Amino acid sequence: MTLRPHQYESCIQIDEAIFLLNSGQPVAIPTETVYGLASKIDSAYGLEQIFKIKARPFFDPLIVHVSSIDQAKSLSLNWNCIADSLSSHFWPGPLTLVLEKSNKVNDLITSGLTSVGIRMPNHPIALKLISACGPLAAPSANKYGRTSPTRATHILEEYQGCIPVVDGGPCEIGIESTIIKVHSDREISILRPGMISQMQVELALSRAGITCSWINSKKEISPGSMKHHYMPSIPLIITLKQKTDHDIIMNYLSEVAHLPNQVEGVTIHKPQNINKIYRLLLPDTPQMAARELYALLRHTPKDADLIVIHWSHSPSDQAWSSIWDRLKRAATLIL
Ligand code: AMP
Ligand code: MG
Repeated sequence: MTLRPHQYESCIQIDEAIFLLNSGQPVAIPTETVYGLASKIDSAYGLEQIFKIKARPFFDPLIVHVSSIDQAKSLSLNWNCIADSLSSHFWPGPLTLVLEKSNKVNDLITSGLTSVGIRMPNHPIALKLISACGPLAAPSANKYGRTSPTRATHILEEYQGCIPVVDGGPCEIGIESTIIKVHSDREISILRPGMISQMQVELALSRAGITCSWINSKKEISPGSMKHHYMPSIPLIITLKQKTDHDIIMNYLSEVAHLPNQVEGVTIHKPQNINKIYRLLLPDTPQMAARELYALLRHTPKDADLIVIHWSHSPSDQAWSSIWDRLKRAATLIL
């Protein structure tokens, strides 16, 4: 697939997406979390293209999207009572289960790991495409390390019409899924926070009569869980105390010289002159903040040099923890 700018200036229809996916090509598709760049799991070409198009390192595994529990079972070896209970409670929905992989899952998808992340998305178009083409491996459709797309136009703009996109409207959840690793029928860990909280997972399991313990996720290494991720094209500064524009610029300028140019392969943008600050106000509820965050980051005025978000929530506020997780990774500085 040669990437030709302006080849896809507008979105494609579902039938064309099915044709492209079935011929082994990648297509950007909507889900309720964020838009994904999808390929059939048995197309080595399509999977390689995903990494190439996103400039994603091969050590960062992809999540496989399914449209039925049977598909999920066929991709995993240790489907147990926890997987049963969490999938029946939260699927289709923003929860990914990491399980031992079966030999149906290509090593390219799992970056050589013996486990695979599986999720059933809650979006009619994604489910239709998976039903027609089989399980689809799909990471978020942004360039590596950058803000995830939550509208079809985000992808058309980011890749200048180089890749086919199916429009499914704005994403309802707006941030990536919660990732839970199932270690055994007694132990789980949380690898990435999302809109489904640890408490909701615990409640669902206890209602199903399952008692299990959480393995400390800090000790768990999830490849691709990088310090810097979701970064907008100009620096994002988070303030924990109210600060004037003047103070923020002074703080930024004194810190910027000490910042690296790259962290974990992601380039850190560091303008040396600051003329305009864009103060981004987060919506009041965590649901709305998650839904709008990435679009607000992308809709930064063209002449702004810095984005500033003031964070006023308590660090222990569970409802906001997944948004804080994204913001701290997207931030160049926290003041
Ligand atoms: P995304 O790029 O938003 O689709 O997220 C994919 C992320 O899921 C990766 O960066 C990993 O952090 C995580 N992931 C996927 N598969 C696995 C796995 N087998 N084990 C641990 N984490 C995984
Ligand atoms: Mg991603």
